[in-house]
Amino acid sequence: MIEITNLQKSYGKTTILKDINLTINDNEIYGLVGRSGAGKSTLLRCINGLEKYDSGSLKVNGFDIKGHTNRELREFRKNIGMIFQNFSLMERKNVYENIALPMKCWGYKKKQIDKKVKELVKLVDIEDKLYQKPRSLSGGQKQRVAIARALSLDPKILLCDEATSALDPKTTKSILLLLKKINETLGIGMVVVTHQMFVVKKICHKVSILENGKICTSGTVSDVFLNQSKALKNLLGEDEEELINADGKSIKILYVQNSENNKLLSDIVKKFDVDFSITAAKLEKYRDAVLGSVVINVNEEKVADITNYLTKLKINWEVLNNEQ
Ligand code: ADP
Repeated sequence: MIEITNLQKSYGKTTILKDINLTINDNEIYGLVGRSGAGKSTLLRCINGLEKYDSGSLKVNGFDIKGHTNRELREFRKNIGMIFQNFSLMERKNVYENIALPMKCWGYKKKQIDKKVKELVKLVDIEDKLYQKPRSLSGGQKQRVAIARALSLDPKILLCDEATSALDPKTTKSILLLLKKINETLGIGMVVVTHQMFVVKKICHKVSILENGKICTSGTVSDVFLNQSKALKNLLGEDEEELINADGKSIKILYVQNSENNKLLSDIVKKFDVDFSITAAKLEKYRDAVLGSVVINVNEEKVADITNYLTKLKINWEVLNNEQ
């Protein structure tokens, strides 16, 4: 478990992380999202003890990185694997040697290293690349080597810093599936720093949105997307502009797909004898749910009836501003 309380971190006179409070449970995949410069990577580096913080506390499985010797920190970091956008492989070493490196540094026996490397290449599905150099591998294969290396010391937590940002969409999907499999089969918790919402939707259980070093929104991924906080809208920017009709009022409805909610629109028609047009609609598959978002355009006098009904059903809605 990672417990962060009132954490503050500055570089010189600039405060980079402001009053961060966060709990990440064991076995969870936790997303940290935000624009470039929001402080995500700094927070990640604080978690693995590579950066010191000024005040507050940060405990990983009860271990606070403050007040420990370098030797103790090195021992602590064995429990934390890390992967990066640029893979950070050693070009002169082959796949086997790259994966073996952390175990070699810790003085593991040759036989033990050999067994582990062979297990890991199987897990990340690059058994046939064992003696190749990184330059002959694709981006996705390089990231698989980096993942295997990060798992070589049997960490409890894997930190992923923009791990799929340099990959094409298809390769990104395959790497995300691999991370999900590792989380589910080995029970390794993950903290995933990304600016790609797709990554959060596909694999994260929970997410926090950072803006200028502050956490603005946190929660389960479904809740954060259903609630459409200002921080989320800022992050999604223009991608989420709805089609707004000049006549009438546009209501955006956000819901979890289930047998009840699937009848929602026809229920509204029957109950309030209302005509509407649908100006935007989408269904998206998240890790644990399918979320729907639909924008309907209705006569202004029906807005109160419909929104009161949605509130009663605990369904998120928003009347969009026609002037925008
Ligand atoms: P993100 O990962 O969200 O893009 P970072 O954590 O990398 O953000 O950076 C947050 C802020 O801290 C940025 O304004 C960046 O310029 C600054 N920063 C990061 N590392 C250092 C450093 N070593 N020295 C001074 N400023 C830094």
